[in-house]
Amino acid sequence: MTAHAQDGFESARGRLLADIAQLTRETRLETGRAALSEQTMAAMRTVPRHRFVVPGDERYAYDNRPLPIGHGQTISQPFIVALMTDFLELKPTDKVLEIGTGCGYQAAVLSELAREVYSIEIVEPLGREAAQRLKTLGYRNVVAKVGDGYQGWVEHAPFDAIMVTAAARDVPQPLVDQLKPGGRLVIPVGSQGGAQTLYVMEKQPDGKVVQRAVLAVRFVPLTDGRGRQQ
Ligand code: SAH
Repeated sequence: MTAHAQDGFESARGRLLADIAQLTRETRLETGRAALSEQTMAAMRTVPRHRFVVPGDERYAYDNRPLPIGHGQTISQPFIVALMTDFLELKPTDKVLEIGTGCGYQAAVLSELAREVYSIEIVEPLGREAAQRLKTLGYRNVVAKVGDGYQGWVEHAPFDAIMVTAAARDVPQPLVDQLKPGGRLVIPVGSQGGAQTLYVMEKQPDGKVVQRAVLAVRFVPLTDGRGRQQ
């Protein structure tokens, strides 16, 4: 947990929180939630998104939109970050896996709500920069590595929750296998640049998986390291 009480962006973050609350209400019929938890909103209020965007973009950091972070990748729209986080329904004792570290913003949000966050990024310079940034900002409960998140992170499995922040063609079976019974997996599924749907999956105590489609979304693709979607 890190406190960034006085960084000059408090009122910008306050406006962003109001935008997120408004969009949550507007999408309630699709998502099934009219409001996000206090814990999710507190994490969104705490994490300094302006420290995760590229230099020069700080003034846009609290607009509710994705921004480029280099290497053809983006930092996700804050509303989607908040919504996906909320769907994981994290407890402070949880161990979470994130696929697609990007700039590390989503990992930082998760780290405010869980005990440990493991995050994997396939683009090496992005993964290295994100790990360094998270360390500089004091997020000590995030462990980041460069690799193919499709395979999950078997050494640290099973996880209480898993979040994928890139669009897959299908739900990667290794991730389902690495989810604890009772655990949740949030993932956008659909073709690159085409229609994609955000799914919330829950592994039942008997191992059966139930899934629900919650929202139409648009993410960069989950790739195999050679730019092909997997
Ligand atoms: N969570 C990020 C969003 C980044 S966009 C944030 O908060 O900024 C999605 C990221 O997933 C990109 O950085 C992309 O390089 C990465 N990615 C794509 N395929 C991947 C894979 N197979 N394994 C791990 N990361 C992947």
